[in-house]
Amino acid sequence: MSDTITAIATPMGEGGLSVIRVSGLAALSIASGLFRPAQSVPKKEFIPQRVYFGEILDPDSQTIVDEVLLTYFKAPKSFTAEDVVEISAHGGLFVTTKILQLLKDQGARLAEPGEFTRRAFLNGRIDLSQAEAVTDVIHAASERALRSALAQLKGSLSTQLNDWFERLLAVLAQLEASIDFSEEGLEFQKRETSLQEIQAIQKGIEALIQTYRQGKIFREGAHVVLLGKPNVGKSSLLNALLNEDRAIVTPMPGTTRDTLEERVRIHDIHINLIDAAGLRQNPESIEKEGIKRAKAALDRADLALVIFDASNPLDKNDDLLIQEVTGKPHRVLLNKSDLKEHLDMHALQEKFPDAEFIRVSAKSGTGLTKLCASIYQFVVGDSSLNETLVITRERHRQCLDAANTALIKSCASLEQNLSEEFVAVDIQIAMDRLAIILGKTFEDDLLDQIFGEFCIGK
Ligand code: GDP
Repeated sequence: MSDTITAIATPMGEGGLSVIRVSGLAALSIASGLFRPAQSVPKKEFIPQRVYFGEILDPDSQTIVDEVLLTYFKAPKSFTAEDVVEISAHGGLFVTTKILQLLKDQGARLAEPGEFTRRAFLNGRIDLSQAEAVTDVIHAASERALRSALAQLKGSLSTQLNDWFERLLAVLAQLEASIDFSEEGLEFQKRETSLQEIQAIQKGIEALIQTYRQGKIFREGAHVVLLGKPNVGKSSLLNALLNEDRAIVTPMPGTTRDTLEERVRIHDIHINLIDAAGLRQNPESIEKEGIKRAKAALDRADLALVIFDASNPLDKNDDLLIQEVTGKPHRVLLNKSDLKEHLDMHALQEKFPDAEFIRVSAKSGTGLTKLCASIYQFVVGDSSLNETLVITRERHRQCLDAANTALIKSCASLEQNLSEEFVAVDIQIAMDRLAIILGKTFEDDLLDQIFGEFCIGK
């Protein structure tokens, strides 16, 4: 990490401002070498956290490249815990690229994606779960996603995991002391006390694992699939929901040409609506291909909206789809409720004995508010969740699962009066897993994977 890195930290394109970042031992000398302050800086001693107005000069031609603001952050009080300089230039593609080039000419290296955050981690300023939260803050598409990402960035998850780690370490120390002095017949801590402590931690871990479903939905948004035979009004409903919600975040291109995916926001969460568009191709029959697509869309979905045309009787195509949704959380929508009802409600209720039925009309907009409320209720659940302490990543869940299993085993060993060595091995496994989440121990591959998701300049 002795080299100095640089990158444009703002999106590439034209805008009011662009920020170019430099981090490393030579950050100040490289950046200040190109900078002519408007008011002289005595002995070129830049004061940390102060903003300097001036110009960037091309050292060869001595021509002005841009008027900029330069801010110096002195190590370790900076994002990377190294010396950092941020140059705010006018937001033009040519001008920012030119400044970047000059910084490189002076000896800075172009940063890899996520390298600033990686340095912050390697320099011990943040742990790995906090580094992950940096991307989550950037990608947050709803209030809840932002709140939980910010809490994680501030260390809510780290504090809890570190607490468990330290407490397990204390139990382990007692057990090991008992092992070392076993011949003297000394018992350093009653097995019962160790057992209670491990059980308390294990219950905590178990509860944290339970937050994963919702945590993941907060971060990624819930995936809701619209399912129904051709012509029931899937695409009309999708459009109606998009119009209803004026806060469309981004239209997302479908992952395949057969599915259309759009993002909408309901209150403080976001929802990815998936329309298995392929199901619309042949109105006469759904056939194998249609079922295959419906299955694929269902696999990815958290919730299915099963749509029926209330103005027409059920047919075998409806039945085919009904079979697919059993076992998946779903809501039953009766679309075209503005028309006269010809659907056999009794038959349908028999097919979905426990489902919630919602009458809607994509055409008139009736029932859409109720539909949104129902989706929201499904996603947010009973809201007893403490959203500042949730896990949102599969990596965390896997580690916690392994820690949980190990602690359950260590409790069993204590209860069966097995020797301390057995108990200690499993406690050690649990601690290792917690350490992996926090990045106390790590492999370079894992860092490459995590920071590879970042953009350049972050
Ligand atoms: P999809 O094949 O399931 O995507 O169905 P479409 O959204 O393409 O709709 C099929 C037809 O039903 C179109 O002619 C729509 O205008 C019509 N339609 C959709 N929703 C409604 C509704 O709520 N009321 C009425 N009256 N017609 C609708």
